[in-house]
Amino acid sequence: MIVSHGVDFESSAMAGHRILILGGTTEARGLAEKLASRGDIAATISLAGRTLDPKPLPLPTRIGGFGGVEGLVDYLAQENIGLLIDATHPFANRISANAATAAERAGCAIFALRRPAWEAMAGDRWTRVADIDSAVAALGTIPRRVFLAIGRQEAARFSAAPWHGYLVRSVDPVDPPLGVADCRYILSGGPFTVEDERHLLVENRIDVVVSKNSGGAATHGKIAAARDLGLDVVMIERQEPPGIAAVGTVEAALALIDQTLPPAWKRGV
Ligand code: NAP
Repeated sequence: MIVSHGVDFESSAMAGHRILILGGTTEARGLAEKLASRGDIAATISLAGRTLDPKPLPLPTRIGGFGGVEGLVDYLAQENIGLLIDATHPFANRISANAATAAERAGCAIFALRRPAWEAMAGDRWTRVADIDSAVAALGTIPRRVFLAIGRQEAARFSAAPWHGYLVRSVDPVDPPLGVADCRYILSGGPFTVEDERHLLVENRIDVVVSKNSGGAATHGKIAAARDLGLDVVMIERQEPPGIAAVGTVEAALALIDQTLPPAWKRGV
């Protein structure tokens, strides 16, 4: 039996010859680019469809939910998927749980490509919280100027603290908008440099940054800039991920695929 990092490739290799990447992240895109340029692996990438105008990907791409665990199990069987790679965002908890369950039911190998969380450094002024509601509460009752950089889906939950002033940044418009008197919106997907983030925080007289602990370099600039400026950060921490094998980088994902890739997966074999 070929087992690597707890991934049982041998039994799943009999079940399928394709890779399905669950995407929506920089890492999923990076992995897709590497696999596409190799050309010896048949892989598809899946997006939820949240981004209105996603950048094209270099692999066959399907868009939209599967219809829960059952739908994903059916898809894995129909498409002859032998390896499922969960490269979704560390806060996309439902699809990650569904993927782990569906892979087990379908007898399909699975591992996660999940970038490590950021660690606080000397000078950081983080208040760590477990979820969005706790982040809202952590802002307190005294009006502050808040930079909200958690994506658009949950931004409106900050309407529960309407006494603060908000600067909200997201890739697509926040709809419905926050039900607060003082709110400005910026549309941008990054990556963001520390210097630009420092400028943004100073120019908008921000007191506190609210962030998910997403990890990775592309959005870390605001965290470093807040440290430089001595600003508070309300850091929403990740939930415990499903207990499947996980790697932290595209390179490690490629190595894990390569170490154990059964010959039958190679395109044209
Ligand atoms: P979620 O709450 O974990 O998933 C909700 C539902 O969306 C899932 O049950 C599934 O629908 C569908 N879905 C999610 N990811 C999918 C994918 N890659 N392919 C096909 N269907 C998918 O997810 P979320 O937090 O809304 O995130 C949605 C997508 O945005 C993810 O792909 C994630 O990588 C990306 N993203 C999320 C965040 C974040 O902060 N949450 C940030 C950046 C990017 P069915 O049950 O019908 O299959």
